[in-house]
Amino acid sequence: MHCPFCGAVDTKVIDSRLVSGGHQIRRRRECTACHERYTTFESAELVMPRLIKRDGSRDPFNEDKMRNGLVRALEKRPVSTEQVEQAINYVKSQLRATGEREVSSELLGNLIMEQLKELDKVAYVRFASVYRSFEDIREFGEEIARLSDEKNQNAEGND
Ligand SMILES: [Zn+2]
Repeated sequence: MHCPFCGAVDTKVIDSRLVSGGHQIRRRRECTACHERYTTFESAELVMPRLIKRDGSRDPFNEDKMRNGLVRALEKRPVSTEQVEQAINYVKSQLRATGEREVSSELLGNLIMEQLKELDKVAYVRFASVYRSFEDIREFGEEIARLSDEKNQNAEGND
């Protein structure tokens, strides 16, 4: 790219490193004409599959919407922003790995639930209770029972 200070065509890269857990490259550049330095970020522009909803309608994948759902489930839970971003990157890479142009919104929901299950059990239950359909309610009840058993066992172990 042209130098943003003097418009010269020739700039050289003086430093290059991976950032955002390897999802971006940060480059320090120096203009060969005016010697000003500046930084550029490079990341891949990847097309996400569209989501097929239960009623058959299609929605574009919306990263902000997914982030909001995660953040809401994780409200006041001991999970860092960095962990949330990693979970988001993981879910996105899984969606792209399908190689499909369209995937069911259920697949996305399940990927998010898997991530929440690893991050924080309370957030997982919150998200699942909102996300899962009524027909899954029995299975969901069993899941909560299983989680609270685990919790009780842990509590006993601590005594
Ligand atoms: Zn310049």
